[in-house]
Amino acid sequence: MTAAHIPTPPALVIFDVDYTLLRPGTRFEAEGYRALGHEFGLDLDPGRWDAAERAVYAAMLERRELLGTLHDEGVYEIVATTIIEELGGGDPEVVTAAARAQLAEWWNVEHFTLYDDVLPCLQRLHDAGLALALLSNTSRDLDAVAAHFGLGAFVDLAVASSVVGHCKPAPEIFAALLAEASVAADEAVMVGDNLEDDVRGAIAAGCHGVLLDRRGRWDVPLPTIRGLDELPALLGLLG
Ligand SMILES: [Mg+2]
Repeated sequence: MTAAHIPTPPALVIFDVDYTLLRPGTRFEAEGYRALGHEFGLDLDPGRWDAAERAVYAAMLERRELLGTLHDEGVYEIVATTIIEELGGGDPEVVTAAARAQLAEWWNVEHFTLYDDVLPCLQRLHDAGLALALLSNTSRDLDAVAAHFGLGAFVDLAVASSVVGHCKPAPEIFAALLAEASVAADEAVMVGDNLEDDVRGAIAAGCHGVLLDRRGRWDVPLPTIRGLDELPALLGLLG
């Protein structure tokens, strides 16, 4: 698929939430984990962050092989535990306590901010009359999240995996959103930072996919943008 096949403009633009619209705070990065470890008496090495990210990826793949694409409330603690262990770990009970403390903070929207390019992009698409949706693997109340960040006026509907019971990249969650929006799959474009869940999931569901690669990490033959400022033009909105 190439960018040329994306309808310009599409009837519906679907956004992933975490790392696409919402930027997790520094407490969820290497130095934040070092500080968390300090609170719990663990000596964590932020220099091992890249290895931790790879370990999280492997752990999530393993978890998915076990559970398929069912909504998975347990994966969040596994992510935090894996990171802590990869950064140095320690007594398993202490690691678990630290992971649970970190997880509790993940659900606090006060630790997140909007990326700078979010509001201008959503405003531009909204002004052009495009319907906009949120689609997230989460158990957060997405309407509350949208309201908290001032996105309520732009977002027409929001679907969370905890409600549907399936996670991206499952076709079921895309189908649930499309049914609610009354939009045909090939009239919808999904934009997200996760190649498998957001982009390949959308394509498998018959939608179009745009990869948001903020860190320039990917080289894939799929429509890719480095920031949301590039999205309006990709969707045929000029000026
Ligand atoms: Mg994401």
